[in-house]
Order: sequence, then C-alpha cells, then structure tokens
Amino acid sequence: MRVNLINYTHEPEKTVAAAARLCYSEINAEDIMKDLDPEKQEHFLKKLMDLGHLSPAEHVSFTFSIEGVSRALSHQLVRHRIASYSQKSQRYVNEDGFEYITPPSIGRNSEALEVYEQAMQMIQGAYEKLLKVVPKEDARFILPNACETKLVATFNTRSLYNFFQHRCCLRAQWEIRMLASRMLQEVRKVAPILFEKAGPICETDGYCPEGTMSCGRIEKIKKTKN
Ligand SMILES: Cc1cc2nc3c(=O)[nH]c(=O)nc-3n(C[C@H](O)[C@H](O)[C@H](O)COP(=O)(O)OP(=O)(O)OC[C@H]3O[C@@H](n4cnc5c(N)ncnc54)[C@H](O)[C@@H]3O)c2cc1C
Repeated sequence: MRVNLINYTHEPEKTVAAAARLCYSEINAEDIMKDLDPEKQEHFLKKLMDLGHLSPAEHVSFTFSIEGVSRALSHQLVRHRIASYSQKSQRYVNEDGFEYITPPSIGRNSEALEVYEQAMQMIQGAYEKLLKVVPKEDARFILPNACETKLVATFNTRSLYNFFQHRCCLRAQWEIRMLASRMLQEVRKVAPILFEKAGPICETDGYCPEGTMSCGRIEKIKKTKN
C-alpha cells in the first residue's frame, strides 16, 4: 500500500483558526489571518477541537494518492460520501496480468496461499480470453475484489475526522484500517494540532458504538480517564 498526501489547503491550521475566530470577531478573515501568531493559533485551535466546533474545519481539505490497495478496500472507502474520488477505470485500463492484494491471513497460510494464487491465475487466464472476444467493460466482470486499484481522494478535515473515527477502529477491516492509519500519519505531518485528537471514536468521544462486538478497548480508555 502506498499513501501520499499530494496536496492540501495552504496554511491549513491558520485557515481553520481564522474561520472560527471570524464567528466571534468584528474584523474580517483577511485581517484575522494577519493578526494570528502561532501561539494564539494553537490555543484557539485546541479550544475549538475540544468543543467539537467542527464546521470551520470544513474549509480545509487534503488530497491523497492511494495505490496498491484492493477493490475490496475501495468499495468501503467510497461509502464515505463527504469526499471526492477518482479511481483507475476497469472500462478503459487493460487489467491484463492484473496485480492483486493478498490478505496477511492468506499470505501466512501455505495451503490457503496455493488456492488463492491458483484462483488468481485462473481469473487472469479467463480475463485474457474474454478480452479477445468482448469489450474491456464486460471482461472486467470476472475480476476479483483482490484486484489492485489506484485512487485520488480528497476529504475536508471534518469528514476526515469522521473517516478516522470509523476506520481507525479495531473493528474496521484490516486493509482500510491500515489506510486510515497511514492517512492520519500523513495529515499529522502538516496539521499536527488539527489532527492531534483524531482517531477511533473510543478515543475521540469516549464511547464505543460496537455494542457486543466491541473490542473492549473502551473499558481501558474509561479506566485511564477516571
Ligand atoms: C466497522 C464497520 C462496519 C461496517 N459494516 C457495514 C455493513 O455491514 N454494511 C454496510 O452497508 N456498511 C457498513 N459500514 C459502512 C458504514 O455504514 C458507513 O457507510 C461508512 O462508514 C461511511 O460513514 P458515514 O456515512 O458516516 O460517512 P459519510 O458518507 O462521509 O458521511 C459523513 C456524515 O455525514 C452525514 N451524512 C452523509 N450523508 C447523509 C445523508 N444522506 N443523510 C443524512 N446524513 C448524512 C452523516 O452524519 C455521516 O456520518 C461499516 C463501517 C464500519 C466502520
């Protein structure tokens, strides 16, 4: 999996702080930007994030290049509707000899790995044969969830918070959890205060929505907070 932050709003933390301060100020955002020193900015941002006043965070967005992930992952990713996506097309791009993702549970089990690799080879052979007689858009019907894909995804800060709450959770599927954790590492490099408290919902909100399927981590979090 390769995850890179390829673009983001210029001065992300200053922009969020200025948008938030505007709500309580008589001067305009441009003048607020000029007046914001790093200390005031940090203080204001921390207060804002603690209060959960997240609408000013919507003014700042982050664009990621994501490669070496499965179609099983991308299907889950695009369920996050408050984001924009561009994905390698299987209608236009030839998937002849496609790369595929191998789940760790299969990779470390020689019997499972043999079955898996044989199935992938069989699908690759069938895809090649189909390509000779039908258009790519129809040959792709045979491609597996394991097929490697590439995307560009753009989220605003608030939507990213929601994404991390859902997908950094230990109950999330391993591949999208790995993606979420890489994306969080990337945004923390450029906006450390904004994302200081981002993470699974048990950490951000102190409760677990998973009920009987909870991993149990919330109990430890509650104990350390008491
Ligand atoms: C552990 C786990 C298991 C899951 N299992 C399943 C499953 O079995 N089946 C399944 O289908 N999905 C499953 N999902 C996906 C999940 O239900 C969400 O679709 C996904 O996490 C996107 O979350 P979201 O809607 O909050 O994000 P976004 O679409 O980015 O939305 C962000 C927020 O905007 C608001 N919003 C967005 N659209 C609307 C709208 N139309 N109306 C009102 N408010 C809106 C909501 O407050 C929402 O939380 C699972 C997710 C996780 C993390």
